Amino acid sequence: MEFDLENRVVIVGSGPAGLTAGIYAARANLSPLVFEGFQAGGQLTMTTDVENFPGFPTGIMGPNLMNSLREQAERFGAKCIMAQVDKIDFGSYPYLLTVGKQEVSAYSIIIATGATAKLLNIPGERELVGRGVSTCATCDGFFFKDKNIHVIGGGDSAMEEAIFLTKFAKEVTIVHRRDKLRASKIMEDRARSNSKINFLWNAEVQEIAGTEAEGVKSFSYKDLKTNENLIVESEGIFVAIGHTPNNELFANNINLDDNGYIITAGKSSKTNLKGVFAAGDVQDSIYRQAITAAGTGCVAAIDAERFLEENEL
Ligand code: NAP
Repeated sequence: MEFDLENRVVIVGSGPAGLTAGIYAARANLSPLVFEGFQAGGQLTMTTDVENFPGFPTGIMGPNLMNSLREQAERFGAKCIMAQVDKIDFGSYPYLLTVGKQEVSAYSIIIATGATAKLLNIPGERELVGRGVSTCATCDGFFFKDKNIHVIGGGDSAMEEAIFLTKFAKEVTIVHRRDKLRASKIMEDRARSNSKINFLWNAEVQEIAGTEAEGVKSFSYKDLKTNENLIVESEGIFVAIGHTPNNELFANNINLDDNGYIITAGKSSKTNLKGVFAAGDVQDSIYRQAITAAGTGCVAAIDAERFLEENEL
C-alpha cells in the first residue's frame, strides 16, 4: 500500500461519517487519507436495502451506497486505504498513527470509527442477519409489516425498538433474560401500555432457526426459572442489547461519556485534543442514522479545514 506519510488530515473509519468527511476534506484540497479498517463501509455493509437515505426514492443497497460514497471521495482526491490503524500517539504533534509497519503523521485527525451493535453470539444469528435478524428497527422495521416479531433485550434500546416496530408489526414480544427491565420507568410504561407489545420473561435465547431463502422461522430459549427448553415461532428477531462505540484506539486520550462515546463540544465535532475531531456513531448514542453520521462527517471536515487554516498548517 502506498500513501503519503505526512498528512494534513487523516480520517479513521469509512462509514457514512468517514467518507462524507473524505468528500468535504478532498474538495477543500486537503488530500485526506482515509483508513477504512477491516469492515470497509461500516455498519451499512451489513444491511440490505437502505430506504431512508435521502435521494434514493426506490432505496439503495447498503454496500452500493458505501461504494458510491467512496468513489465520490476518491474523485476529489481522497485516498482510501483498506487498512486498520493500530495505534495513535497523541503525545507527539503532528500526531503519529501506526498502520501495520508504517508510521503516518497527521496535523488533524477525524475519528469516525463508529459503533458495533452487540450480538448474542448464538447459532443462527449471524447467518440470518438481513434475513429476519436485525439490529436496527429504524432501518428494517418496514420489512416486518403485519408480522409476529421478537425484540431481545430489556434496556431502553429494546423498549424503543419494540415501540417503533409496533407501527408495522402485528405483534411484538420483548424477550428478556430476567423478570425486571433495565429500561427507564418512562420507557417501560410506554412499552407496557402499548397493546401490541407482550413480554416473555426469564428467557435466555439460545438458537435462531431459519433459512436464507425464507428467513427466520423460530428461536429456542431456556426458561431460566424452570430450566425448560422451549421453541417459539417468529417472523423476525431484533437484537437490541446495546451498542459498543469503537473507542479502543483513543479511550485513554479523548474524553468519553459514561457509555464510552466521544464527547464533542457544542454543535461542533471538536474533541478535547487540538486538531482531533469526531463524527458519526462513535460520538452519537442517540440518533445513530446513516444520514446523521454523514452530516457530522461534513461538520468534522469543515472543522478540520478551519483548524488547519487558523493554525497555518
Ligand atoms: P443497556 O441499558 O445496557 O441494556 C441492555 C439490555 O440488554 C439489558 O436489559 C441486558 O440485560 C440485555 N442484555 C445484554 N447482554 C445480553 C445478552 N447477552 N443476552 C440477553 N440480554 C442481554 O443498553 P441500551 O438499552 O442500548 O441502552 C444504552 C444507553 O442508551 C442507556 O443509558 C440508555 O438509557 C440509553 N438509551 C436511551 C434511550 C431513550 O431514552 N430513548 C434509547 C436508547 C438508549 P440485563 O438487564 O439482564 O443486564
